[in-house]
Amino acid sequence: MSNRFDVIINGAGLVGSSIAIGLAKAGFKVLVIEFHPLEKLYPQDDYGLRVSAFTPSSKKWLEYVDAWDGLQHTGRITPFLHMHVWDEGGMGELTFDAAGTGSDALGWIMDNEATQGVLIDRALKLDNITILDNTKLESFEKVAGDVEVTLSNGDQYVTALIIGADGGRSMVRDWANIPTTGWSYGQKTIVGQVRPEKSHDNTCWQRFLDNGPLALLPLNDGRCSLAWHTTYEEADELLALDPEAFSDRLSEGFQWKFGRIEIAGELGAYPLRLNHAQTYVRENFALAGDAAHSIHPLAGLGVNIGYLDSATLVEELINAKKAGISLGDLTMLKRYEKRRKVHNMLIMGSMDLFKRSSTSQSKVVKGARNLGLSAANKLPFVKRKLARMAMGYYGDIPSFVKP
Ligand SMILES: Cc1cc2nc3c(=O)[nH]c(=O)nc-3n(C[C@H](O)[C@H](O)[C@H](O)COP(=O)(O)OP(=O)(O)OC[C@H]3O[C@@H](n4cnc5c(N)ncnc54)[C@H](O)[C@@H]3O)c2cc1C
Repeated sequence: MSNRFDVIINGAGLVGSSIAIGLAKAGFKVLVIEFHPLEKLYPQDDYGLRVSAFTPSSKKWLEYVDAWDGLQHTGRITPFLHMHVWDEGGMGELTFDAAGTGSDALGWIMDNEATQGVLIDRALKLDNITILDNTKLESFEKVAGDVEVTLSNGDQYVTALIIGADGGRSMVRDWANIPTTGWSYGQKTIVGQVRPEKSHDNTCWQRFLDNGPLALLPLNDGRCSLAWHTTYEEADELLALDPEAFSDRLSEGFQWKFGRIEIAGELGAYPLRLNHAQTYVRENFALAGDAAHSIHPLAGLGVNIGYLDSATLVEELINAKKAGISLGDLTMLKRYEKRRKVHNMLIMGSMDLFKRSSTSQSKVVKGARNLGLSAANKLPFVKRKLARMAMGYYGDIPSFVKP
């Protein structure tokens, strides 16, 4: 194997593996470094703990990278046709329907492990992608406009561009000396599979409680994926309950709308942070996905904005190659940043505001939230705008994902 690659991607996650395929399809020679053994990332017998709700724009991207059929093949991917958000007091509510949006669903639920497995399977079939797993980038040196990297096993490779797709604790971000702005939400999300007594009706359900939103995402086998965003204290208290008592609290949280909701799989919890890289690029370096931004998962947009990064970065790199510009060129990389950063900030800001209003104990804020939900629900123009945003159609959309 020659030691020169057009691009080296750190991280074979949802974002990194999709960028690798997008670039390889355009003829780039790509090296992917992943520190976990690949078989550990592959689908298990059951849905993994973390699921994502893919927007129609993400579906387009997954189709472009030839992963959509593979996702369908798993039998796990579940369309949702409706979304219903309501407030604890029951006064404010917001509903969306796929009908009239031009898409056959508002989105699709799929667990992250299975998606990552399908993407990696696809990447392994392409001759111009090399994946090295169970290994790490150890050090780098800039050499005549390129970067020479050394892996933990001592092997060395040269490239013009290193893409950090290595998640929220990105090592590439540190290497490129890119600071972040962020804070902890002081919250955790409890996730896992649960089985409601009544049908989920292929709907995403979300109710705002005092400590944060509680959501059920529909799964193909009648179960739902739970996302219960709450304080550290309440999360720890809930996870310490026996299954019967947990089920009581959960069913109560949804006002017994679904009858009894039983635990139907393993439960886990993730701490929540907002994190935003102050720049997405340096000469020879670019960040994408959670390496560039981690957001509150209450609207399920994290990986979707990561896929928009992926599609935009691939588009800019293809244009650079056609124009004979080095893939590490800062001016070209800045164009990618310009196209993504403002829109990611808009989404992050909206989610942050939403999160703050969702946990505020102030009667005024609660009233405004109720009013906001009801008003948005009654104003077709606002609702259409919100639906397009939730479907991933906003801002400077890369050509691969245009509706
Ligand atoms: C509780 C919870 C619920 C969520 N729900 C949703 C949702 O419904 N919808 C949605 O869109 N998003 C959701 N998200 C966010 C979503 O999971 C992330 O945005 C998404 O996983 C980011 O993908 P990524 O590829 O950028 O990073 P990651 O998924 O973190 O992947 C990074 C990859 O890089 C590898 N890696 C890390 N460091 C190194 C290193 N030093 N060297 C080599 N490899 C490395 C990792 O092993 C991994 O394979 C949720 C997040 C949480 C915490």
